[in-house]
Amino acid sequence: METFDYVIIGAGSAGSVLANRLGEDPASRICVLEAGPTDWHPYIHLPAGFIKTFHMKSVNWGYQQEPGPWTGGRSVYAPRGKTLGGSSSINGHIYNRGQRQDFNTWAQLGNRGWGYPDVLPYFKRLERRVGEGDETYRGRDGSLTVTTMDWKDPLCEAFMEGAVSLGIPKNPDYNGAIQEGVSYCQRTIENGLRVSAAKAFLHPARKRGNVDVRTHAHVTNLIFEGKRAVGVRYLKGGKGGTPVEVRASKEVILSGGTYNSPQVLQLSGVGSPELLQSHGIEVRHALPGVGEGLQDHYAPRSVARVKNIRTINELRRGVSLWVEALKWATTRRGLLSLSPTMVYCFWHSGETTESSDLQLTFTPASYKEGVQGQLEDEPGMTVASWQQRPESRGYVRIRSADPFAPPIIQTNYLVEEIDRRVVVAGMKLARRLLASKPLAPYYAYEDFPGPKVQSDDELLAAATERGTTTFHPGCTCRMGPADAKWAVVDDQLRVHGLQGLRVVDASIMPRMISANLNASTLMIADKASDMIRGKTALEAVKFPVSA
Ligand SMILES: Cc1cc2nc3c(=O)[nH]c(=O)nc-3n(C[C@H](O)[C@H](O)[C@H](O)COP(=O)(O)OP(=O)(O)OC[C@H]3O[C@@H](n4cnc5c(N)ncnc54)[C@H](O)[C@@H]3O)c2cc1C
Repeated sequence: METFDYVIIGAGSAGSVLANRLGEDPASRICVLEAGPTDWHPYIHLPAGFIKTFHMKSVNWGYQQEPGPWTGGRSVYAPRGKTLGGSSSINGHIYNRGQRQDFNTWAQLGNRGWGYPDVLPYFKRLERRVGEGDETYRGRDGSLTVTTMDWKDPLCEAFMEGAVSLGIPKNPDYNGAIQEGVSYCQRTIENGLRVSAAKAFLHPARKRGNVDVRTHAHVTNLIFEGKRAVGVRYLKGGKGGTPVEVRASKEVILSGGTYNSPQVLQLSGVGSPELLQSHGIEVRHALPGVGEGLQDHYAPRSVARVKNIRTINELRRGVSLWVEALKWATTRRGLLSLSPTMVYCFWHSGETTESSDLQLTFTPASYKEGVQGQLEDEPGMTVASWQQRPESRGYVRIRSADPFAPPIIQTNYLVEEIDRRVVVAGMKLARRLLASKPLAPYYAYEDFPGPKVQSDDELLAAATERGTTTFHPGCTCRMGPADAKWAVVDDQLRVHGLQGLRVVDASIMPRMISANLNASTLMIADKASDMIRGKTALEAVKFPVSA
Protein backbone atom coordinates (compact mmCIF):
# COMPACT_ATOMS: atom_id res chain seq x y z
CA MET A 1 0.00 0.00 0.00
CA GLU A 2 1.34 3.45 -0.88
CA THR A 3 1.99 5.83 2.00
CA PHE A 4 1.82 9.62 1.90
CA ASP A 5 2.16 12.14 4.69
CA TYR A 6 -1.29 13.52 4.01
CA VAL A 7 -4.24 12.18 2.07
CA ILE A 8 -6.78 14.83 1.09
CA ILE A 9 -10.25 13.68 0.03
CA GLY A 10 -11.75 16.09 -2.51
CA ALA A 11 -9.96 18.58 -4.78
CA GLY A 12 -12.57 21.31 -4.32
CA SER A 13 -12.22 24.82 -2.91
CA ALA A 14 -10.78 23.63 0.40
CA GLY A 15 -8.83 20.64 -0.94
CA SER A 16 -7.07 22.81 -3.55
CA VAL A 17 -5.84 25.34 -0.98
CA LEU A 18 -4.72 22.57 1.36
CA ALA A 19 -2.77 20.79 -1.37
CA ASN A 20 -1.01 24.02 -2.18
CA ARG A 21 -0.11 25.04 1.34
CA LEU A 22 0.86 21.58 2.63
CA GLY A 23 2.91 21.06 -0.53
CA GLU A 24 5.01 24.15 0.26
CA ASP A 25 7.08 21.86 2.44
CA PRO A 26 9.18 19.94 -0.14
CA ALA A 27 9.63 17.03 2.28
CA SER A 28 5.86 16.42 2.51
CA ARG A 29 4.15 13.97 0.18
CA ILE A 30 0.50 14.63 -0.46
CA CYS A 31 -2.14 12.58 -2.23
CA VAL A 32 -5.35 14.29 -3.38
CA LEU A 33 -8.27 12.04 -4.30
CA GLU A 34 -10.99 13.51 -6.47
CA ALA A 35 -14.09 11.62 -7.61
CA GLY A 36 -14.53 13.76 -10.72
CA PRO A 37 -12.45 14.29 -13.87
CA THR A 38 -9.83 16.95 -14.58
CA ASP A 39 -11.13 20.44 -15.21
CA TRP A 40 -10.37 20.49 -18.93
CA HIS A 41 -13.83 21.39 -20.17
CA PRO A 42 -13.99 24.90 -21.74
CA TYR A 43 -17.39 25.59 -20.11
CA ILE A 44 -15.64 25.50 -16.71
CA HIS A 45 -13.28 28.29 -17.70
CA LEU A 46 -15.60 30.50 -19.71
CA PRO A 47 -17.58 32.49 -17.09
CA ALA A 48 -20.85 32.26 -19.04
CA GLY A 49 -20.32 28.47 -19.18
CA PHE A 50 -21.97 28.49 -15.73
CA ILE A 51 -25.30 27.97 -17.40
CA LYS A 52 -23.98 24.79 -19.07
CA THR A 53 -22.09 23.22 -16.15
CA PHE A 54 -25.16 23.84 -14.01
CA HIS A 55 -26.63 20.59 -15.34
CA MET A 56 -23.53 18.90 -16.79
CA LYS A 57 -23.45 15.46 -15.18
CA SER A 58 -19.77 14.86 -16.02
CA VAL A 59 -18.60 17.64 -13.65
CA ASN A 60 -21.58 18.03 -11.34
CA TRP A 61 -23.02 15.70 -8.70
CA GLY A 62 -26.45 17.11 -9.59
CA TYR A 63 -28.16 16.20 -6.34
CA GLN A 64 -31.88 16.52 -5.67
CA GLN A 65 -32.99 17.58 -2.23
CA GLU A 66 -35.91 15.99 -0.42
CA PRO A 67 -39.13 18.00 -0.63
CA GLY A 68 -39.35 20.13 2.51
CA PRO A 69 -42.33 21.33 4.56
CA TRP A 70 -42.08 24.78 2.89
CA THR A 71 -41.08 23.96 -0.68
CA GLY A 72 -44.58 23.21 -1.91
CA GLY A 73 -43.85 19.52 -2.42
CA ARG A 74 -40.92 20.37 -4.70
CA SER A 75 -37.53 18.72 -4.64
CA VAL A 76 -35.01 21.55 -5.01
CA TYR A 77 -32.07 20.86 -7.34
CA ALA A 78 -28.65 21.01 -5.65
CA PRO A 79 -25.69 21.24 -8.05
CA ARG A 80 -22.19 20.54 -6.66
CA GLY A 81 -18.89 20.54 -8.49
CA LYS A 82 -17.32 17.17 -9.26
CA THR A 83 -14.02 18.01 -10.87
CA LEU A 84 -10.72 19.66 -9.94
CA GLY A 85 -11.70 22.86 -8.15
CA GLY A 86 -14.95 21.24 -6.98
CA SER A 87 -17.81 23.70 -6.70
CA SER A 88 -15.45 26.63 -7.38
CA SER A 89 -15.22 25.26 -10.94
CA ILE A 90 -18.96 25.53 -11.56
CA ASN A 91 -19.98 28.35 -9.23
CA GLY A 92 -21.19 31.87 -10.00
CA HIS A 93 -17.70 33.40 -9.42
CA ILE A 94 -18.92 35.84 -6.78
CA TYR A 95 -16.43 36.85 -4.15
CA ASN A 96 -18.17 37.76 -0.91
CA ARG A 97 -16.62 37.21 2.50
CA GLY A 98 -19.46 37.96 4.89
CA GLN A 99 -19.77 40.25 7.87
CA ARG A 100 -17.47 40.55 10.84
CA GLN A 101 -20.22 39.40 13.21
CA ASP A 102 -20.47 36.07 11.30
CA PHE A 103 -17.01 35.04 12.43
CA ASN A 104 -17.29 36.67 15.85
CA THR A 105 -20.33 34.43 16.38
CA TRP A 106 -18.26 31.36 15.51
CA ALA A 107 -15.75 32.41 18.16
CA GLN A 108 -18.52 33.06 20.68
CA LEU A 109 -19.69 29.48 20.18
CA GLY A 110 -16.39 28.37 21.74
CA ASN A 111 -14.12 28.27 18.70
CA ARG A 112 -10.87 29.97 19.67
CA GLY A 113 -9.06 31.79 16.89
CA TRP A 114 -12.05 32.10 14.54
CA GLY A 115 -13.22 35.66 15.30
CA TYR A 116 -13.13 38.26 12.55
CA PRO A 117 -9.74 39.74 13.57
CA ASP A 118 -8.29 36.19 13.42
CA VAL A 119 -9.68 35.21 10.02
CA LEU A 120 -9.15 38.53 8.23
CA PRO A 121 -5.37 37.96 7.74
CA TYR A 122 -6.19 34.68 5.94
CA PHE A 123 -8.72 36.33 3.63
CA LYS A 124 -6.01 38.85 2.83
CA ARG A 125 -3.26 36.29 2.32
CA LEU A 126 -5.35 34.39 -0.22
CA GLU A 127 -6.38 37.20 -2.51
CA ARG A 128 -4.96 39.41 -5.18
CA ARG A 129 -7.50 42.19 -5.19
CA VAL A 130 -7.49 44.16 -8.41
CA GLY A 131 -9.28 47.48 -7.98
CA GLU A 132 -10.71 49.45 -5.13
CA GLY A 133 -10.07 48.37 -1.55
CA ASP A 134 -8.71 49.58 1.77
CA GLU A 135 -5.46 47.76 2.59
CA THR A 136 -6.72 47.04 6.12
CA TYR A 137 -9.14 44.59 4.57
CA ARG A 138 -7.84 43.66 1.14
CA GLY A 139 -4.89 41.55 0.03
CA ARG A 140 -2.81 42.33 -3.05
CA ASP A 141 -0.27 39.49 -3.22
CA GLY A 142 -2.27 36.25 -3.04
CA SER A 143 -3.07 33.76 -5.79
CA LEU A 144 -6.84 34.29 -5.97
CA THR A 145 -7.53 37.17 -8.33
CA VAL A 146 -10.61 39.21 -7.38
CA THR A 147 -11.88 41.77 -9.88
CA THR A 148 -15.00 43.94 -10.07
CA MET A 149 -17.63 43.53 -12.75
CA ASP A 150 -16.46 45.50 -15.78
CA TRP A 151 -19.68 45.45 -17.85
CA LYS A 152 -21.61 48.67 -17.38
CA ASP A 153 -25.21 47.83 -18.18
CA PRO A 154 -27.95 50.53 -18.23
CA LEU A 155 -30.31 48.22 -16.35
CA CYS A 156 -27.72 47.56 -13.63
CA GLU A 157 -27.00 51.28 -13.37
CA ALA A 158 -30.72 52.05 -13.09
CA PHE A 159 -31.16 49.31 -10.48
CA MET A 160 -28.40 50.82 -8.36
CA GLU A 161 -29.87 54.30 -8.72
CA GLY A 162 -33.21 52.80 -7.70
CA ALA A 163 -31.61 51.38 -4.56
CA VAL A 164 -30.12 54.77 -3.75
CA SER A 165 -33.54 56.36 -4.25
CA LEU A 166 -34.85 54.00 -1.55
CA GLY A 167 -32.13 55.06 0.88
CA ILE A 168 -29.68 52.19 0.24
CA PRO A 169 -26.23 53.75 -0.19
CA LYS A 170 -23.66 52.73 -2.78
CA ASN A 171 -20.80 50.81 -1.19
CA PRO A 172 -17.47 50.82 -3.04
CA ASP A 173 -16.33 47.62 -1.30
CA TYR A 174 -18.72 45.18 0.38
CA ASN A 175 -15.70 43.10 1.39
CA GLY A 176 -14.27 46.06 3.27
CA ALA A 177 -15.21 47.72 6.52
CA ILE A 178 -18.96 47.29 6.08
CA GLN A 179 -21.06 45.05 3.89
CA GLU A 180 -24.33 46.90 3.52
CA GLY A 181 -25.16 48.96 0.45
CA VAL A 182 -25.36 48.36 -3.29
CA SER A 183 -22.62 47.86 -5.87
CA TYR A 184 -21.40 45.82 -8.81
CA CYS A 185 -20.23 42.31 -7.84
CA GLN A 186 -16.68 41.31 -7.15
CA ARG A 187 -15.74 38.16 -8.98
CA THR A 188 -13.06 35.49 -9.21
CA ILE A 189 -12.61 36.19 -12.91
CA GLU A 190 -9.43 37.39 -14.55
CA ASN A 191 -8.90 38.28 -18.17
CA GLY A 192 -12.29 36.85 -19.11
CA LEU A 193 -11.64 33.47 -17.48
CA ARG A 194 -12.76 31.79 -14.23
CA VAL A 195 -10.27 31.71 -11.37
CA SER A 196 -11.28 28.44 -9.69
CA ALA A 197 -9.52 27.11 -6.61
CA ALA A 198 -7.85 24.57 -8.90
CA LYS A 199 -6.50 27.29 -11.14
CA ALA A 200 -5.29 29.48 -8.28
CA PHE A 201 -3.99 26.78 -5.93
CA LEU A 202 -4.10 23.18 -7.11
CA HIS A 203 -2.47 23.37 -10.53
CA PRO A 204 0.48 25.47 -9.28
CA ALA A 205 0.91 22.97 -6.40
CA ARG A 206 1.02 20.01 -8.80
CA LYS A 207 3.97 21.54 -10.57
CA ARG A 208 6.06 21.19 -7.40
CA GLY A 209 6.16 17.42 -7.80
CA ASN A 210 5.20 16.37 -4.27
CA VAL A 211 1.42 16.59 -4.77
CA ASP A 212 -0.12 13.53 -6.43
CA VAL A 213 -3.62 14.37 -7.71
CA ARG A 214 -5.76 11.37 -8.68
CA THR A 215 -8.98 12.00 -10.58
CA HIS A 216 -11.85 9.51 -11.02
CA ALA A 217 -10.91 8.34 -7.51
CA HIS A 218 -14.19 7.88 -5.65
CA VAL A 219 -13.52 7.48 -1.92
CA THR A 220 -15.74 4.84 -0.38
CA ASN A 221 -14.51 4.91 3.22
CA LEU A 222 -11.78 5.75 5.69
CA ILE A 223 -9.45 3.11 7.10
CA PHE A 224 -8.99 3.09 10.89
CA GLU A 225 -6.69 1.40 13.34
CA GLY A 226 -8.61 1.69 16.57
CA LYS A 227 -9.59 5.35 16.83
CA ARG A 228 -6.89 6.53 14.42
CA ALA A 229 -7.54 7.19 10.75
CA VAL A 230 -4.61 5.70 8.87
CA GLY A 231 -5.76 5.68 5.28
CA VAL A 232 -8.45 5.83 2.64
CA ARG A 233 -10.10 3.33 0.34
CA TYR A 234 -11.25 4.43 -3.09
CA LEU A 235 -12.43 2.98 -6.35
CA LYS A 236 -10.13 3.90 -9.21
CA GLY A 237 -12.35 4.75 -12.16
CA GLY A 238 -15.43 5.28 -9.98
CA LYS A 239 -18.35 2.87 -9.78
CA GLY A 240 -17.27 -0.67 -10.67
CA GLY A 241 -13.63 0.45 -10.64
CA THR A 242 -10.58 -1.11 -9.00
CA PRO A 243 -10.37 -0.86 -5.20
CA VAL A 244 -7.22 0.96 -4.04
CA GLU A 245 -5.97 1.84 -0.58
CA VAL A 246 -3.58 4.63 0.35
CA ARG A 247 -2.14 5.34 3.77
CA ALA A 248 -1.48 8.63 5.52
CA SER A 249 1.42 8.63 7.96
CA LYS A 250 0.37 12.00 9.38
CA GLU A 251 -3.27 12.80 8.63
CA VAL A 252 -6.30 12.12 6.52
CA ILE A 253 -8.12 15.33 5.62
CA LEU A 254 -11.72 15.16 4.51
CA SER A 255 -12.62 18.00 2.13
CA GLY A 256 -15.55 16.42 0.29
CA GLY A 257 -17.89 19.38 0.83
CA THR A 258 -21.08 19.83 2.86
CA TYR A 259 -22.97 16.91 1.34
CA ASN A 260 -20.16 14.41 0.84
CA SER A 261 -17.96 14.87 3.91
CA PRO A 262 -20.67 13.68 6.31
CA GLN A 263 -21.54 10.94 3.82
CA VAL A 264 -17.96 9.59 3.85
CA LEU A 265 -17.87 9.76 7.66
CA GLN A 266 -21.17 7.90 7.96
CA LEU A 267 -20.09 5.26 5.43
CA SER A 268 -16.97 4.80 7.57
CA GLY A 269 -18.95 4.19 10.75
CA VAL A 270 -18.66 7.68 12.22
CA GLY A 271 -21.99 9.27 13.07
CA SER A 272 -25.28 8.65 14.80
CA PRO A 273 -25.36 4.98 15.94
CA GLU A 274 -29.08 4.70 15.08
CA LEU A 275 -28.51 5.91 11.53
CA LEU A 276 -25.47 3.68 10.95
CA GLN A 277 -27.12 0.59 12.39
CA SER A 278 -30.26 1.15 10.33
CA HIS A 279 -28.02 0.70 7.26
CA GLY A 280 -26.05 -2.23 8.69
CA ILE A 281 -22.87 -0.20 9.18
CA GLU A 282 -20.70 -1.05 12.16
CA VAL A 283 -20.30 1.88 14.55
CA ARG A 284 -16.65 2.85 14.67
CA HIS A 285 -17.23 6.05 16.58
CA ALA A 286 -20.52 7.47 17.81
CA LEU A 287 -20.76 11.15 16.86
CA PRO A 288 -24.41 12.21 16.56
CA GLY A 289 -23.64 15.64 15.04
CA VAL A 290 -22.34 14.18 11.76
CA GLY A 291 -24.60 15.36 8.94
CA GLU A 292 -26.89 17.32 11.27
CA GLY A 293 -27.41 21.09 11.21
CA LEU A 294 -27.42 21.68 7.43
CA GLN A 295 -28.10 25.31 6.51
CA ASP A 296 -28.48 27.04 3.16
CA HIS A 297 -29.80 30.27 1.68
CA TYR A 298 -33.27 30.03 0.15
CA ALA A 299 -34.18 32.58 -2.50
CA PRO A 300 -37.35 33.37 -4.37
CA ARG A 301 -36.46 35.20 -7.59
CA SER A 302 -38.73 38.17 -8.39
CA VAL A 303 -39.01 38.87 -12.10
CA ALA A 304 -40.17 41.89 -14.12
CA ARG A 305 -40.68 42.00 -17.88
CA VAL A 306 -38.52 44.59 -19.61
CA LYS A 307 -39.23 47.08 -22.42
CA ASN A 308 -37.11 49.54 -24.47
CA ILE A 309 -33.83 47.66 -23.96
CA ARG A 310 -32.33 44.26 -24.68
CA THR A 311 -31.56 41.92 -21.79
CA ILE A 312 -29.21 38.95 -21.61
CA ASN A 313 -32.13 36.71 -22.58
CA GLU A 314 -31.98 38.02 -26.16
CA LEU A 315 -28.24 38.68 -26.31
CA ARG A 316 -27.61 34.99 -25.70
CA ARG A 317 -29.27 33.96 -28.98
CA GLY A 318 -28.61 33.91 -32.70
CA VAL A 319 -26.42 36.56 -34.30
CA SER A 320 -25.98 38.47 -31.01
CA LEU A 321 -24.32 35.44 -29.49
CA TRP A 322 -21.86 35.23 -32.37
CA VAL A 323 -21.05 38.90 -31.95
CA GLU A 324 -20.46 38.33 -28.24
CA ALA A 325 -18.29 35.28 -28.95
CA LEU A 326 -16.15 37.37 -31.26
CA LYS A 327 -15.93 40.10 -28.66
CA TRP A 328 -14.76 37.60 -26.04
CA ALA A 329 -12.21 36.07 -28.40
CA THR A 330 -10.70 39.45 -29.24
CA THR A 331 -11.06 41.40 -25.99
CA ARG A 332 -11.94 38.81 -23.32
CA ARG A 333 -14.87 41.04 -22.39
CA GLY A 334 -18.60 41.13 -23.00
CA LEU A 335 -21.43 38.75 -22.31
CA LEU A 336 -19.40 35.55 -22.22
CA SER A 337 -17.18 36.93 -19.45
CA LEU A 338 -20.13 37.67 -17.18
CA SER A 339 -21.23 36.03 -13.95
CA PRO A 340 -24.87 35.00 -13.54
CA THR A 341 -25.27 37.86 -11.02
CA MET A 342 -24.11 41.43 -11.56
CA VAL A 343 -25.22 43.70 -8.76
CA TYR A 344 -25.23 43.00 -5.03
CA CYS A 345 -27.36 44.72 -2.45
CA PHE A 346 -27.26 44.13 1.30
CA TRP A 347 -30.02 45.66 3.39
CA HIS A 348 -32.32 45.35 6.40
CA SER A 349 -35.58 43.45 6.57
CA GLY A 350 -36.71 45.46 9.56
CA GLU A 351 -37.10 42.21 11.49
CA THR A 352 -33.79 42.57 13.29
CA THR A 353 -31.92 45.64 14.40
CA GLU A 354 -28.37 44.46 13.84
CA SER A 355 -26.41 44.56 10.60
CA SER A 356 -28.09 43.86 7.26
CA ASP A 357 -29.95 40.56 7.17
CA LEU A 358 -31.04 40.58 3.54
CA GLN A 359 -28.96 39.87 0.46
CA LEU A 360 -30.43 40.83 -2.90
CA THR A 361 -28.90 40.28 -6.30
CA PHE A 362 -29.82 41.84 -9.61
CA THR A 363 -29.39 40.41 -13.11
CA PRO A 364 -30.69 41.85 -16.40
CA ALA A 365 -31.93 38.36 -17.32
CA SER A 366 -34.65 35.95 -16.22
CA TYR A 367 -34.86 32.19 -15.89
CA LYS A 368 -37.49 29.57 -16.63
CA GLU A 369 -39.32 28.67 -13.40
CA GLY A 370 -36.92 31.02 -11.59
CA VAL A 371 -34.15 28.41 -11.66
CA GLN A 372 -30.78 29.54 -12.98
CA GLY A 373 -29.82 27.29 -15.84
CA GLN A 374 -32.37 28.10 -18.56
CA LEU A 375 -32.94 31.64 -19.76
CA GLU A 376 -36.42 32.79 -20.72
CA ASP A 377 -37.21 33.89 -24.26
CA GLU A 378 -38.78 37.29 -23.55
CA PRO A 379 -36.80 40.19 -22.02
CA GLY A 380 -36.67 40.06 -18.24
CA MET A 381 -34.81 41.17 -15.14
CA THR A 382 -34.51 39.34 -11.84
CA VAL A 383 -33.98 40.21 -8.21
CA ALA A 384 -33.19 37.23 -5.99
CA SER A 385 -33.57 37.92 -2.29
CA TRP A 386 -32.62 35.85 0.72
CA GLN A 387 -32.16 35.93 4.41
CA GLN A 388 -28.47 36.08 5.17
CA ARG A 389 -28.44 34.21 8.48
CA PRO A 390 -31.30 31.70 8.47
CA GLU A 391 -32.20 29.80 11.62
CA SER A 392 -33.69 26.71 9.91
CA ARG A 393 -31.57 23.60 9.96
CA GLY A 394 -31.79 20.24 8.25
CA TYR A 395 -29.51 17.27 7.69
CA VAL A 396 -27.50 15.06 5.32
CA ARG A 397 -27.86 11.33 5.94
CA ILE A 398 -26.77 8.31 3.94
CA ARG A 399 -29.57 6.67 2.00
CA SER A 400 -27.90 3.27 2.18
CA ALA A 401 -24.49 1.69 2.73
CA ASP A 402 -23.84 2.05 -1.01
CA PRO A 403 -21.19 4.80 -1.44
CA PHE A 404 -22.68 5.66 -4.84
CA ALA A 405 -26.21 6.24 -3.55
CA PRO A 406 -26.80 10.01 -3.30
CA PRO A 407 -27.23 11.09 0.32
CA ILE A 408 -30.58 12.24 1.68
CA ILE A 409 -30.47 16.04 1.72
CA GLN A 410 -33.16 17.75 3.77
CA THR A 411 -32.46 21.45 4.26
CA ASN A 412 -35.77 22.27 5.96
CA TYR A 413 -35.91 25.67 4.29
CA LEU A 414 -38.15 28.18 6.08
CA VAL A 415 -39.19 25.89 8.94
CA GLU A 416 -38.31 28.64 11.44
CA GLU A 417 -40.84 31.44 11.50
CA ILE A 418 -38.22 34.20 11.50
CA ASP A 419 -36.91 32.84 8.19
CA ARG A 420 -40.35 33.10 6.64
CA ARG A 421 -40.79 36.67 7.86
CA VAL A 422 -37.42 37.81 6.54
CA VAL A 423 -37.95 36.10 3.17
CA VAL A 424 -41.29 37.89 2.78
CA ALA A 425 -39.64 41.21 3.70
CA GLY A 426 -37.00 40.48 1.04
CA MET A 427 -39.68 39.95 -1.61
CA LYS A 428 -41.31 43.23 -0.70
CA LEU A 429 -38.00 45.06 -1.01
CA ALA A 430 -37.29 43.31 -4.32
CA ARG A 431 -40.66 44.54 -5.60
CA ARG A 432 -39.92 48.13 -4.55
CA LEU A 433 -36.51 47.99 -6.16
CA LEU A 434 -37.83 46.70 -9.48
CA ALA A 435 -40.58 49.33 -9.49
CA SER A 436 -38.23 52.19 -8.55
CA LYS A 437 -38.28 55.40 -10.60
CA PRO A 438 -34.85 54.99 -12.24
CA LEU A 439 -35.95 51.59 -13.65
CA ALA A 440 -39.31 52.94 -14.85
CA PRO A 441 -38.21 53.50 -18.50
CA TYR A 442 -37.48 49.77 -18.76
CA TYR A 443 -40.06 48.25 -16.41
CA ALA A 444 -43.01 46.71 -18.25
CA TYR A 445 -44.76 44.79 -15.48
CA GLU A 446 -44.11 42.39 -12.62
CA ASP A 447 -44.18 38.81 -13.82
CA PHE A 448 -43.35 36.99 -10.60
CA PRO A 449 -44.80 36.92 -8.03
CA GLY A 450 -47.22 39.15 -9.99
CA PRO A 451 -49.46 42.07 -8.97
CA LYS A 452 -52.22 39.82 -7.59
CA VAL A 453 -49.87 38.57 -4.90
CA GLN A 454 -50.05 41.19 -2.15
CA SER A 455 -50.52 39.94 1.41
CA ASP A 456 -47.72 38.40 3.45
CA ASP A 457 -49.41 35.01 3.21
CA GLU A 458 -49.64 35.29 -0.58
CA LEU A 459 -45.99 36.30 -0.83
CA LEU A 460 -44.98 33.39 1.38
CA ALA A 461 -47.00 31.01 -0.77
CA ALA A 462 -45.19 32.36 -3.84
CA ALA A 463 -41.83 31.86 -2.08
CA THR A 464 -42.62 28.24 -1.30
CA GLU A 465 -43.80 27.69 -4.87
CA ARG A 466 -40.70 29.09 -6.61
CA GLY A 467 -37.81 29.52 -4.12
CA THR A 468 -34.53 27.77 -4.84
CA THR A 469 -31.16 27.25 -3.26
CA THR A 470 -28.49 29.86 -3.81
CA PHE A 471 -26.00 26.96 -3.62
CA HIS A 472 -24.56 27.73 -0.19
CA PRO A 473 -25.00 24.57 1.89
CA GLY A 474 -22.85 24.38 5.00
CA CYS A 475 -22.73 23.30 8.64
CA THR A 476 -23.00 19.48 8.47
CA CYS A 477 -19.75 18.77 10.38
CA ARG A 478 -19.90 21.74 12.71
CA MET A 479 -16.94 23.11 14.62
CA GLY A 480 -17.53 23.40 18.35
CA PRO A 481 -16.30 22.35 21.78
CA ALA A 482 -16.31 18.65 22.76
CA ASP A 483 -19.21 19.10 25.17
CA ALA A 484 -21.50 20.51 22.46
CA LYS A 485 -23.69 17.61 21.31
CA TRP A 486 -23.84 18.96 17.76
CA ALA A 487 -20.08 19.46 17.33
CA VAL A 488 -18.14 17.20 14.94
CA VAL A 489 -14.73 18.91 14.88
CA ASP A 490 -12.85 21.03 17.40
CA ASP A 491 -11.44 24.47 16.64
CA GLN A 492 -8.39 22.83 15.08
CA LEU A 493 -10.84 20.98 12.79
CA ARG A 494 -9.89 17.58 14.27
CA VAL A 495 -12.78 15.14 14.50
CA HIS A 496 -13.79 14.82 18.14
CA GLY A 497 -12.73 11.54 19.70
CA LEU A 498 -10.63 10.35 16.74
CA GLN A 499 -6.99 10.82 15.80
CA GLY A 500 -5.34 11.56 12.48
CA LEU A 501 -8.52 12.93 10.93
CA ARG A 502 -9.70 16.47 10.17
CA VAL A 503 -12.60 17.85 8.21
CA VAL A 504 -11.74 21.00 6.28
CA ASP A 505 -14.44 22.47 4.03
CA ALA A 506 -17.72 24.41 4.16
CA SER A 507 -19.28 21.71 6.35
CA ILE A 508 -17.37 22.85 9.43
CA MET A 509 -19.09 26.23 9.62
CA PRO A 510 -21.01 26.25 12.88
CA ARG A 511 -23.51 28.77 11.54
CA MET A 512 -24.46 30.12 8.16
CA ILE A 513 -22.69 33.34 7.29
CA SER A 514 -23.95 36.45 5.50
CA ALA A 515 -22.32 35.49 2.21
CA ASN A 516 -21.80 33.07 -0.63
CA LEU A 517 -19.45 30.44 0.76
CA ASN A 518 -16.46 30.14 -1.57
CA ALA A 519 -14.33 32.92 -0.03
CA SER A 520 -14.84 31.70 3.52
CA THR A 521 -14.21 28.06 2.56
CA LEU A 522 -10.88 29.05 1.03
CA MET A 523 -10.11 30.98 4.22
CA ILE A 524 -10.99 27.95 6.38
CA ALA A 525 -8.59 25.78 4.38
CA ASP A 526 -5.79 28.33 4.48
CA LYS A 527 -6.13 28.70 8.24
CA ALA A 528 -6.33 24.92 8.66
CA SER A 529 -3.12 24.48 6.66
CA ASP A 530 -1.21 26.44 9.32
CA MET A 531 -2.76 24.29 12.04
CA ILE A 532 -1.85 21.08 10.24
CA ARG A 533 1.73 22.23 9.65
CA GLY A 534 2.06 23.32 13.29
CA LYS A 535 2.70 26.91 12.26
CA THR A 536 1.80 29.89 14.40
CA ALA A 537 -1.45 31.45 13.21
CA LEU A 538 -1.18 34.76 11.37
CA GLU A 539 -1.36 37.68 13.76
CA ALA A 540 -4.91 38.88 14.41
CA VAL A 541 -5.79 42.33 13.08
CA LYS A 542 -6.04 44.89 15.85
CA PHE A 543 -9.02 47.15 15.28
CA PRO A 544 -9.56 50.32 17.24
CA VAL A 545 -12.38 49.74 19.76
CA SER A 546 -14.84 51.85 17.75
CA ALA A 547 -14.19 50.08 14.39
C1 LIG B 1 -23.87 26.30 -8.93
C2 LIG B 1 -23.12 26.91 -7.78
C3 LIG B 1 -22.97 28.30 -7.72
C4 LIG B 1 -22.28 28.87 -6.66
N1 LIG B 1 -22.00 30.20 -6.70
C5 LIG B 1 -21.15 30.73 -5.79
C6 LIG B 1 -20.66 32.03 -5.93
O1 LIG B 1 -20.94 32.73 -6.91
N2 LIG B 1 -19.82 32.52 -4.97
C7 LIG B 1 -19.47 31.78 -3.88
O2 LIG B 1 -18.76 32.29 -3.00
N3 LIG B 1 -19.93 30.52 -3.73
C8 LIG B 1 -20.71 29.96 -4.67
N4 LIG B 1 -21.07 28.66 -4.59
C9 LIG B 1 -20.66 27.90 -3.40
C10 LIG B 1 -19.17 27.59 -3.32
O3 LIG B 1 -18.63 27.34 -4.59
C11 LIG B 1 -18.98 26.41 -2.38
O4 LIG B 1 -19.54 26.75 -1.12
C12 LIG B 1 -17.54 26.03 -2.17
O5 LIG B 1 -16.91 25.79 -3.40
C13 LIG B 1 -17.49 24.77 -1.29
O6 LIG B 1 -16.17 24.31 -1.18
P1 LIG B 1 -15.88 22.90 -0.51
O7 LIG B 1 -14.40 22.75 -0.52
O8 LIG B 1 -16.59 22.82 0.77
O9 LIG B 1 -16.58 21.83 -1.46
P2 LIG B 1 -16.39 21.58 -3.02
O10 LIG B 1 -15.71 22.72 -3.67
O11 LIG B 1 -17.71 21.18 -3.53
O12 LIG B 1 -15.36 20.37 -3.07
C14 LIG B 1 -15.64 19.05 -2.69
C15 LIG B 1 -14.86 18.14 -3.63
O13 LIG B 1 -14.85 16.82 -3.07
C16 LIG B 1 -15.10 15.88 -4.11
N5 LIG B 1 -15.67 14.68 -3.51
C17 LIG B 1 -16.86 14.58 -2.87
N6 LIG B 1 -17.06 13.31 -2.45
C18 LIG B 1 -15.98 12.60 -2.84
C19 LIG B 1 -15.61 11.24 -2.70
N7 LIG B 1 -16.40 10.35 -2.09
N8 LIG B 1 -14.42 10.85 -3.23
C20 LIG B 1 -13.58 11.74 -3.84
N9 LIG B 1 -13.91 13.04 -4.01
C21 LIG B 1 -15.09 13.46 -3.50
C22 LIG B 1 -16.06 16.63 -5.02
O14 LIG B 1 -16.14 16.05 -6.30
C23 LIG B 1 -15.49 18.03 -5.00
O15 LIG B 1 -14.51 18.22 -5.99
C24 LIG B 1 -21.76 28.04 -5.62
C25 LIG B 1 -21.91 26.66 -5.68
C26 LIG B 1 -22.57 26.09 -6.76
C27 LIG B 1 -22.68 24.59 -6.83
